[in-house]
Amino acid sequence: MIATAGLLAVPTKTILILGGTREALDLAAALNPDYRTITSLAGRTKSPKMPAGELRVGGFGGAKALADYLVSENIDIIVDATHPFAATISRNTAEAAALANIPRIMLQRPPWQASADDNWEVFPDLKAAAANLKPNSRCFLTIGRQELGAFKNRDDVWFLVRMIDAPTTPLPLARHEAITGLPQTSVSNEKNLIQTHKIDTLITKNSGGNLSAAKLEAARELGLRIMMIQRPQVPAGDVVETVEAAERWLLNR
Ligand code: NAP
Repeated sequence: MIATAGLLAVPTKTILILGGTREALDLAAALNPDYRTITSLAGRTKSPKMPAGELRVGGFGGAKALADYLVSENIDIIVDATHPFAATISRNTAEAAALANIPRIMLQRPPWQASADDNWEVFPDLKAAAANLKPNSRCFLTIGRQELGAFKNRDDVWFLVRMIDAPTTPLPLARHEAITGLPQTSVSNEKNLIQTHKIDTLITKNSGGNLSAAKLEAARELGLRIMMIQRPQVPAGDVVETVEAAERWLLNR
C-alpha cells in the first residue's frame, strides 16, 4: 500500500487490529490515516461502534486460516486488542503470527485491583463460581451471554443477567431476568439496580477499565458478596496496557 506525503510516496504499514474493545477503537483512531488499519470483529454485537479505517467482521476459521489471511492481506503487524477473556482468538492470533512470521503485540488493559476495603472471592472460572454460589442467592451476572450455561444447574439461584443485545434464544437459566444495554457508568444507578432486584451477590469477570467499574463500587458500598473471575493466561509475547504504549511499540518497529 502506498500513501503520498507531499510529493514523496511513502510505504504505509498495514496493521490488523483484533478488536471488540474500547482500546481497539481508540488505537484505530490514533493510527489513522498514517497507517492502513483493518479492525477485525467477531460479529457478536448487533450494532458495534465503527472503527476508523477498514473493518472486517466474522471468525477466520482458526489459526491456520488466520495465518493465510495475514499473508493474503499483506499484514505487516498484528495488534491483539481483544477482550482479556477472549482467550481462543488470542491463542489463535499468536499461532497465526508465528506461522506467517509477522510481529504481534497484545494490548490489554490492566485488571482491577482489590482495594483495602474489598473482600473479593477470586475464582479461576465460571464453573467454579457457579459451584460456590450460596443456596438461594440472588445474583447479578455481568459476564455476557455466551457462557451462561455454567450456571444452568443452579435452579435454586435467581439471576439478574445484563447483556449488550437482547437474547435471541431462551437463556439456560431456570430463574432469571435479562436486562440489555451497556454497563451503567454511575455508581448510584448501579446501586439502584442492585437494590431494586434485591441482589446479594455479584459475579463478574476481571475485565478492568473504567467503563464497567461502577458496579464494583456499588456492590462494595452495599456489602454484596463479590465473586471475581480471574483472567485466563495470555500467550507469551509483548503485552502493553495502554493505547499510547501500543503506539510507541509500533513506532519502534
Ligand atoms: P474467543 O472465545 O476468544 O473467540 C472465539 C472465536 O470467535 C475465535 O476462535 C474466532 O473465530 C472468533 N473471534 C473472536 N474474536 C474475533 C475477532 N476480533 N475477529 C474475528 N474473529 C474473532 O472470543 P469471545 O470471547 O467469543 O469474544 C469475541 C469478541 O468479543 C472478541 O473480539 C472480544 O474482544 C469481544 N469481547 C469479549 C468479551 C468476553 O468476555 N469474552 C467481552 C467483551 C468483548 P475463528 O476461530 O473462526 O477465527
